[in-house]
Amino acid sequence: KLPGNRNTLAKYGGQHTVTAMPGDGIGPEMIGHIKKIFKYCNAPINFEEVQMTSIYQDGDMEEVIYAIERNGVAIKGNIETKFDDPAFVSRNVELRRRLDLWANVLHCVTIPTVPTRHKDIDIVLIRENTEGEYSGLEHESIPGVVESIKIVTQEKIERIARFAYEYAVLNGRKKVTAVHKANIQKLGDGLFLQIAKDMAKEYPTVEFDQMIVDNASMQLVSRPQQFDVMLMPNLYGNIISNIACGLVGGPGLVSGMNFGDVHAVFETGTRNTGTGLVGKDIANPTAFIRAGVDMLRYVGCHKHADLISDALWEALTEQGVHTGDIGGSAKTSELVERTLRNIERMMPRLD
Ligand code: ADP
Ligand code: MG
Repeated sequence: KLPGNRNTLAKYGGQHTVTAMPGDGIGPEMIGHIKKIFKYCNAPINFEEVQMTSIYQDGDMEEVIYAIERNGVAIKGNIETKFDDPAFVSRNVELRRRLDLWANVLHCVTIPTVPTRHKDIDIVLIRENTEGEYSGLEHESIPGVVESIKIVTQEKIERIARFAYEYAVLNGRKKVTAVHKANIQKLGDGLFLQIAKDMAKEYPTVEFDQMIVDNASMQLVSRPQQFDVMLMPNLYGNIISNIACGLVGGPGLVSGMNFGDVHAVFETGTRNTGTGLVGKDIANPTAFIRAGVDMLRYVGCHKHADLISDALWEALTEQGVHTGDIGGSAKTSELVERTLRNIERMMPRLD
């Protein structure tokens, strides 16, 4: 359940239109699997595909933005960011900023048969997705001196903090932990912490906790079960989210959701491209399929979402179909096929 009111969804003839942006790396293969699964269970989704990759094409960003503004919803693969070229601004970051997709939400849960160091992890990670270190303001003032500017605003901290508390209340969560470095970044992170703390008073049913990001990292890898909802500014949120994904089995398992006031973009939690896995049929499709399930829930197709989610869960757990990243030897297509067989058996539920 999500805070806010998001009803600007394109729906014609009983079909939801959703923008699909395959991106780079394994994205196109994964979008292909999602389409196959959706089609198999007659999910009422009509994909409108738009291309945007790391190879810059004049006007492609505009085309993607128009498509997402029109449909309200998108599912995307990640776009490769070259970091040896200072002029190349991450197109993923640009897209999030242009659409003002200010909330990033990941749900990290252990899957019983996936080998992990810790059991019973269930953490919701809520990350401010537009400002802070990602403001994109850097310059070399004189040779050898670089200013990299982190900007935070009361307005944006308030909206992400509000989102976290509302999310906690709507989903029966008990605690929100604000992650910061206010001992060093006294003004910037100090403001973040102060706002989170003050707002907590409006939510008496949710316990407030705060933790410095270094300690939060250590606590996560040693005793992750203590965390419930984590509220984080942009960069710490990125790092902490990756730690949490690693704890539950890695980049192939967790999906990620991005919300603005009116738009939503679904992708994988760790936003990898998996370039080394392309064309080998070995990538774990779970993260992408879960992104598809999140998207179905978002547009209100709960029965289809539950069907696909349960079919995938059974394939991963009872049937133990594991790809290489989680210690198995199954191919991507074997997990997809097994999921389809499970869907076939569970299909009568839709009637
Ligand atoms: P690269 O672009 O070099 O492949 P990424 O940053 O995209 O690296 O991914 C980080 C690591 O996670 C890589 O080792 C990659 O193979 C792995 N990875 C990413 N996505 C998946 C996936 N869906 N299944 C299995 N492994 C994955
Ligand atoms: Mg990559």
